[in-house]
Amino acid sequence: MIIADLQIHSRYAAACSKNTTLDLLEKYARIKGLDLLGTGDFQHPLWNKEIKEKLKEDENGILWSSTKFPFIWQTEISLMYRQDGKGRRIHHLIFAPNGEVADQIIAFLGSKGRLDYDGRPIFGFSSIELVDFMRNISNDIEIVPAHCMTPYFGLYGSKTGFDSLKDCFKDNTKHIHAIESGMSADPPMLWRLKEDVNIVSFSDAHSYWPWRLGREATAFDCDLSYKNILEAIRTRKGFSFTIETVPDYGRYHYDGHKGCNIRLNPEETRKLKGICPKCGQPLTIGVQYRIEELAKEKEGYEPKNPIQYKRLIPLHELIIKVYNTNQITSKKVWGVYNTIINKFGSEFNVLLNVDYNELIKVVPEKMAKVIILNREDKLKINPGYDGEYGEIVLEESGIINKKEQKTLREF
Ligand SMILES: [Zn+2]
Ligand SMILES: [Zn+2]
Repeated sequence: MIIADLQIHSRYAAACSKNTTLDLLEKYARIKGLDLLGTGDFQHPLWNKEIKEKLKEDENGILWSSTKFPFIWQTEISLMYRQDGKGRRIHHLIFAPNGEVADQIIAFLGSKGRLDYDGRPIFGFSSIELVDFMRNISNDIEIVPAHCMTPYFGLYGSKTGFDSLKDCFKDNTKHIHAIESGMSADPPMLWRLKEDVNIVSFSDAHSYWPWRLGREATAFDCDLSYKNILEAIRTRKGFSFTIETVPDYGRYHYDGHKGCNIRLNPEETRKLKGICPKCGQPLTIGVQYRIEELAKEKEGYEPKNPIQYKRLIPLHELIIKVYNTNQITSKKVWGVYNTIINKFGSEFNVLLNVDYNELIKVVPEKMAKVIILNREDKLKINPGYDGEYGEIVLEESGIINKKEQKTLREF
């Protein structure tokens, strides 16, 4: 099993921690339980130099650190262009089979714009052209539309996106094999769009780098090579499952206004004609609304032979809920986290595998219960909206009351 996070950014990307190095990415990948990372931002001149200095590429297109952690060539670019009378902004992941092809992509991108001002550079050509350009370089380059549902920058985004893959890529749609679900959507939501495409999930964790990597990930069941990963993404041979944060937890799941304290589901929003009942301004429309708008099938629809997926909230979020604190990076929270990881090896092992009876040897019963409820996808969550993350409600998950929370805080 290879659990991979293939949407990484370097410290040169906007809104990323300035401390991010390949060493740190590896360190936190190991803590998280990831087995493979994307290099991120491979076209950025300084990051590229670091990749080439620090990692050694083998004949399978895998880059190894000196302590034997694997990466593959990966970047993300932003396209801003007009198509069918509308301004479009779409982010795409690009995977390259080896350093030689990566260098050709860099030369090409460099001919189209500057590469040194941001780890995720912006270009003015279309998604259709991107496919043509990349296929002129190598058929083994893979393009995956990133966080496909986000209002701006997502392929299906309500603000600057399209209504379908076909609308975006036209005849080049056949060269798109997978879309990346992003934090506000998961496979059951995307199945309703009835697109003939695989689904992958990666973290794109900008703000808290690098310990946030692997919030979302994809598990493969193949020998480690670029070719096998590519085949799994394209054909699902060797594809195991995606790991998704619960979509309700995403920052744009429901509609509303944060400032007005208004959170609405799609039906409520429709009744209000998209206008905030408090301030009278248009509401920020979330991903669920957009899905309802584009869906060709009812909620609960499953395609034939659906991909497997797991819905998981990261361990840090569980800890702050159980210990009733807002400070996700406090000493206390890291203390609890490290105790758990030191005992069980990695976060994914804790979230996916460790028995309740083993857990309670290390953490209080309530913490163990929350970990199990998370694994079983039974945590109650108040959906995120207008940039606010969703909130886990332990009381309604039926396992904790206010008084017990107090005791735990003192633990
Ligand atoms: Zn992006
Ligand atoms: Zn408002």
